Amino acid sequence: MNRTQFSKIINAINSILLPRVCFGCNAHLLDAEHLLCTVCRHDLPVTGHNFLKENEVDQTFYGRIRIKKAASLLYFSPTGTVKNLLHHLKYKNQELIGEFLGDWFGKTLKRQGHLKAVDYVIPVPLHPKKLKKRGYNQVDAFGKSMAKHLKAQFLGDALYKTANTRTQTKKDRLFRWKSSQNLYEPNPDYSLSGKKVLLVDDVITTGATIEACAKALSTVKAIEIYVATMAFVPKLGS
Ligand SMILES: [Zn+2]
Repeated sequence: MNRTQFSKIINAINSILLPRVCFGCNAHLLDAEHLLCTVCRHDLPVTGHNFLKENEVDQTFYGRIRIKKAASLLYFSPTGTVKNLLHHLKYKNQELIGEFLGDWFGKTLKRQGHLKAVDYVIPVPLHPKKLKKRGYNQVDAFGKSMAKHLKAQFLGDALYKTANTRTQTKKDRLFRWKSSQNLYEPNPDYSLSGKKVLLVDDVITTGATIEACAKALSTVKAIEIYVATMAFVPKLGS
């Protein structure tokens, strides 16, 4: 058994053994409740973004990279339920959270009907070493659920990460920023030219990761890039 298979089994056992408590307030969940209690779910800071009107995620990328349109489902804050959800999704093997958020956002976008006929949903990839360690890409379940609702194909390996960011932490900021711009490459096995793709990620903070991925994708001829993420960190004062 390799390490990835082992991690998958541990994840499955964890999700069975963990008690059904709310990720927001730790209250025991009712049978009809899923991951969050009704109160916490109702209190989640939903952005209300859609794919018609310009929003703060679009503004984050102005003058940086050509993205057709972007949107996030929730606002992220340093404390609170959204942070807790994303932490468990990323570090505690709770992949179901990604599925839950993708299902929610996918349904919402489908109902709004502004984002039309996406060909592919593409997640921000992890470096292979990190993927092996974590056992899963925390964005995959979200992307798969979104793809299902948007009737698009999920391509988990259409982008790949060529260097591990962690090895660069000691280098100076400018150097790190420059090298972060060349961390991703499109997979030559896929023909993305002329396609409409939805790039997905967990949270947008500075936008550097999405910028680097979109830059890599935009080397493909006539590609149209859209962005959807689980959460967005609002700028101070907004
Ligand atoms: Zn709760």
